Amino acid sequence: MSRPNLFGMGPEALAAALADAGEPAFRVKQVYGWLYHRRVQTIAAMTNLPKALRASLGERHEVRWPEVTERTLSFDGTRKYLFRLEDVATIETVYLPEDERRTICISTQAGCPLKCAFCLTGIAGYRRNLKPAEILGQVATVMEEHPVGQTHPQRREADPFPWNIVMMGMGEPLLNYEATVASLRVLMDPKGFGVPPRKLTLSTVGILPALAKLAAEPVRPNLAISLHASDPGLRRALMPIEEKYPMGDVVDMALRYPVPRGGRVTFEYVLLGGVNDSPAHARELVRRLAGRHAKVNLIPLNPAPEIPFHAPRPEAVDAFGALLAAGDVRVSVRRARGQDILAACGQLHLKKAAATAAPPRP
Ligand code: SAH
Repeated sequence: MSRPNLFGMGPEALAAALADAGEPAFRVKQVYGWLYHRRVQTIAAMTNLPKALRASLGERHEVRWPEVTERTLSFDGTRKYLFRLEDVATIETVYLPEDERRTICISTQAGCPLKCAFCLTGIAGYRRNLKPAEILGQVATVMEEHPVGQTHPQRREADPFPWNIVMMGMGEPLLNYEATVASLRVLMDPKGFGVPPRKLTLSTVGILPALAKLAAEPVRPNLAISLHASDPGLRRALMPIEEKYPMGDVVDMALRYPVPRGGRVTFEYVLLGGVNDSPAHARELVRRLAGRHAKVNLIPLNPAPEIPFHAPRPEAVDAFGALLAAGDVRVSVRRARGQDILAACGQLHLKKAAATAAPPRP
């Protein structure tokens, strides 16, 4: 039996753990700082705690980050981490160093229940919500190996490039509200990971009640909305959640979301060849978003054999983007990355699952 994990506990849980060990409340701040600011991986390394306290704390608790079982490096520098969790669920994290920015893409659920028609994670199915330790552990692991945004003295020199963290890996963060928000608090806390809110983006299909709650949180990340269609009929065909939370309401609520200073709501639009990539679709999107304080991120589909759609033609991507720009909608196009290592959206995880389910015959 493993001892309860300190990593992942918020201030209250830490206070309770320390009280159990007979320690005064001021220790909470010290332990919290070791866990999330300095990010040591043993209780023994918390050197400003008295030896006796480290010993008694160590009898009851430990510090465990999720276990990396596979690291893959793409020709373009993209790094993919596969984590095996304690119940053998697997999740993925991707680190994307681009020319002028670095991005860490993390998961919030093992699998996903939403079943969007073009998404491999949805096709593979849903397992469970991640715990704060599993969400924070992904960031801690990548930051340990890559010096993005590191400022405190014990670390390597800071990487000078802009960087950000996106909750765009496996799962729907707003269906795992408590753990997601608990993790965001520790990530954005200057005494924790110290990630400025504008550098953190939560991507969601728009679970309306949870989105309203997020908008009312005292500190909020940036917001990206998975739209993927310019009209409700098409969106319903691609994303079953449209039935419950219609895009009109989602767009309205997103445009009212209080973004952090310097931020802007993003609408993600996966382009599927011949399905949602025509000039008429682009014009309809302009009608809905022209002149609003938002931007559209066009994402050419990352195709895979299991996905029943194909990538858009490059000319269609260009034409779509040009129509948005001409219609007063800010637009960017996401380049595909890490394709040789299946870094896109659940692919490595799926390959593994298939390999376990059906070993190749001799
Ligand atoms: N559930 C959240 C976050 C995870 S998905 C959400 O839906 O926003 C993160 C992004 O990856 C979404 O915009 C999703 O639509 C996109 N995506 C999923 N599968 C993709 C694929 N095969 N190619 C390109 N983008 C994909």
